Amino acid sequence: MLKPVNSFENAKRQLDLVVPLLLNDYQDKKRLNRAIRLLKKPQNILKKKLNLKLDNGKKRSYQSFRIQYNDARGPFKGGIRFHQNVTEDEIKALSFWMSIKCAVVNIPYGGSKGGIIVDPTKLNLRELERLTKQYANFLTPYIGPWRDIPAPDVNTNGQVMAWMLEIFEKRKRHHSPATFTGKPIELGGSEGREEATGRGGVYILQAYLKSKKINHKKIKLAIQGFGNVGYWFAKFAFNADFKIVAISDVSGGVINTAGLNIDELKKLHAKFGCLKEVSSMTNYKFIENKDLLELPVDLLVPAALENAITKENINKIKAKFILEMANGPTTSDADEILKSNKIDLIPDVLANSGGVTVSYFEWIQNLHGYKWTKERVNNELKETITKAFGDIQEVVLEKKITYREATFYLAVKRIIDAMILRGRV
Ligand code: NAD
Repeated sequence: MLKPVNSFENAKRQLDLVVPLLLNDYQDKKRLNRAIRLLKKPQNILKKKLNLKLDNGKKRSYQSFRIQYNDARGPFKGGIRFHQNVTEDEIKALSFWMSIKCAVVNIPYGGSKGGIIVDPTKLNLRELERLTKQYANFLTPYIGPWRDIPAPDVNTNGQVMAWMLEIFEKRKRHHSPATFTGKPIELGGSEGREEATGRGGVYILQAYLKSKKINHKKIKLAIQGFGNVGYWFAKFAFNADFKIVAISDVSGGVINTAGLNIDELKKLHAKFGCLKEVSSMTNYKFIENKDLLELPVDLLVPAALENAITKENINKIKAKFILEMANGPTTSDADEILKSNKIDLIPDVLANSGGVTVSYFEWIQNLHGYKWTKERVNNELKETITKAFGDIQEVVLEKKITYREATFYLAVKRIIDAMILRGRV
């Protein structure tokens, strides 16, 4: 797969693309330009080399980052990833997109992101704990429930949040669970957080189909990805009677034009380890990932990784619409082609915002020292995310623009309005 040259350049280009749409909203064009210039830079870039002594006595050092992009609408909010390919520009782009995502779904947060350049599979659990705790020690003065709220991202999880919480609270000498989201339930995590991104994606899909008056029983879906997002999205879509004809993981996928049983597949996946193995050990028919993307389905759901839909394969994609559940699965050139072919694409910052929405509910629960039931979490998620879709849909219809353009337009406008109200520009 081709990687974009630089995801932050991509992000800034997305910002530039909405400027013409904003011109009518602001009489003072100089002020608008000043706001856009400010939005092209993060507010704070925090960096530190972390030194780790491995269990074998060797010393290693790892570059870490926290980039706080914009907090005009509320405290910074964003995940932390541990990955060998982390770069400063990638974290900048992801922190910008978090600012957009929180504004789209209209929750009172800005955006941030953090990361360590490390391959966590090369560390044992004790080493990972020591590295995480050092990172938390570095971040402690810059985070907090009203300042910056980290969460898990690629290769981090509730355990990593628990280690960070321990260091933060020790140094502050008081409890502060609302500083982190995505925590284990035992330490103040929310019911429903694990499956929230997939569940939210199905709510968005249902809202889209309703707006187009499409009967969900008449459409066929192909899903790329069978991890947290792909599996839960598939599970809720399956429960809601959607026909999923193909689904894949990194090893490849399985296909059945009559519809797959996701519950059965999940069990087989757990038994055999990957979908390729499932197909070789059972009578499920195998499909390569590349071919899954090009199936003649109604809806394609990339839910695995970035840059799955590119200039190279876009003309072979036959889906009538696309729901981006992964972050950044479509390159900007492919996006242009979809636009000219009038294929609807529901963008990642809207489609996968269920995760950060339930993180927001976790924060609210922690601030109140109160626990919501799963039912309440799910109802509030449905209400919040369906409203976000409705807001975008209104802009799409009024301005006759794509869902991605409408999403960025609305989010950037909300951020700029907050910056103006605060007198930052
Ligand atoms: P995950 O690691 O749980 O799952 C990733 C899945 O993608 C796995 O099934 C893996 O086998 C598959 N995969 C990897 N490479 C592939 C390839 N080349 N072809 C096909 N499948 C491949 O990750 P996740 O949490 O499900 O995240 C998936 C995407 O969704 C990422 O882009 C992530 O940033 C985004 N996202 C996740 C959340 C969340 O709450 N987990 C929220 C918002 C966005």
